[in-house]
Amino acid sequence: MRLTKKVFLDLAIYMSSFGLLIGIVFPFFMLVMGIPSAYVMTTPFFLSCIVAGVVVGTINILLAKTVVGKRIGLLSKKMQFIVGKLNDAKSLSDLEDCDSQECQLPVDSTDELGESAQAYNTLLQALSNSIASESAVRSFNNLLSSQLELEILAKNAVDRILHYLDADAGAVIIERGGEFEVVYSFGIKDPSGIVANGNLWKLFESSAMQRNVFDGKLSIDCTLLSFQPDEVLTLPIVYKDVPLGLLVIASRRILSSRSLQTLEMFNQCFSLALNNAITYDQLQKLAANDPLTGLYNRRFGMTRLTEEFSRSVRTHLPLGLLIFDIDHFKRVNDTYGHTVGDKVLVNLAKITAMAARKGDLTIRYGGEEFIVILPGADKKDCAYIAERLRHMVEESIVQMGDIQIRVTISVGAASYPEYNVENEHALIKSADKALYMAKDQGRNMVVFA
Ligand code: GH3
Ligand code: MG
Ligand code: MG
Repeated sequence: MRLTKKVFLDLAIYMSSFGLLIGIVFPFFMLVMGIPSAYVMTTPFFLSCIVAGVVVGTINILLAKTVVGKRIGLLSKKMQFIVGKLNDAKSLSDLEDCDSQECQLPVDSTDELGESAQAYNTLLQALSNSIASESAVRSFNNLLSSQLELEILAKNAVDRILHYLDADAGAVIIERGGEFEVVYSFGIKDPSGIVANGNLWKLFESSAMQRNVFDGKLSIDCTLLSFQPDEVLTLPIVYKDVPLGLLVIASRRILSSRSLQTLEMFNQCFSLALNNAITYDQLQKLAANDPLTGLYNRRFGMTRLTEEFSRSVRTHLPLGLLIFDIDHFKRVNDTYGHTVGDKVLVNLAKITAMAARKGDLTIRYGGEEFIVILPGADKKDCAYIAERLRHMVEESIVQMGDIQIRVTISVGAASYPEYNVENEHALIKSADKALYMAKDQGRNMVVFA
């Protein structure tokens, strides 16, 4: 039965009443024990017993308050302290590592009070862990949300994840046009070696995380890493059920289940940011690149040529330009079909990119006409690069089943200021004239303006 709303007051009432009862009953107990009634049945004796009973009851309540009340008070004080911290958003981070004396209760007994203290500490640890992961995910999200550049985004994500997990190596791999591409890697000796792993496709398509724990019993052939990892983790990056790529993490230590849970949350944020960055990258490329060959499109290429020509005028450095066209390309289309013709164009674009130097600009100028802008190239450099390109194309074979297709190109070249023109349009015009001379003179050759 409930007396009041205060436990210690209830206890006081019960104990004093019990003391009073004992005081009243005690003289009769004495009678039963054979003490003569002349000693027992007197008012002073009765009063003494009652007072003694009440005093013992009061001492009991004081003892209970000192022993139990103190510990319960401590629990309540700590709880109030945590509530204060929770209310104060700025100091939430203090809770992340709340295992100090400041927050935790001493577990100094095995009774219910000890168990309560233990339960409180466990609860606090769970709360502190959850706040730590929540704030780590929030700061990870902030780091990524404003970043649209694919490489920077991947770098930021890998660096932060490795720091958080205290892991040693990581990479972001994305799938583009049926091929894997390592966007960023850290601590990996040969990043291109990862994409050569045949298992990657299976993981990518299954959209399931794979943990490889080596824990000293197993070891892996470390051609890709400069250390022996205890764990290698491959995590598919999926946005709205569409797999975008894979996140690979290698660690010298086995990752805790808590770390893995947070990593899954990181990955969810990352998938959204990565999807945005991939879309942005595609839009950028669409604006500047020809979709078939990946080379700069005519519009973007001409803008760049205007810039390069002005730079050349300003710096007095030469500017080379090659314009080339596939010889008898119509025959390729007519004989093997347009799709095969497209393959030849893609192959030609690859060769052009290989023949060009760093800083040169390769442009698809028209259907099967290309331009290479060669900043800093005089006539001699142009001749060398043009001849190298012509030769590489001549030697190259496009294999379509049993059919081998070879093509040649005719190249018109011009270099400013050795060939002095007013502007970039005149430079193209003169190189184009040279190209037609090459066609006239029998094709598969380089002719200068
Ligand atoms: P020449 O040696 O005089 O340059 O002969 P040619 O047959 O290459 O010249 P022509 O200009 O008559 O033919 C160019 C052909 O290129 C015609 C056109 O169908 C083809 N072509 C243009 N763009 C593409 C394309 O994107 N894909 C494919 N497959 N063919 C293309
Ligand atoms: Mg043509
Ligand atoms: Mg042609």
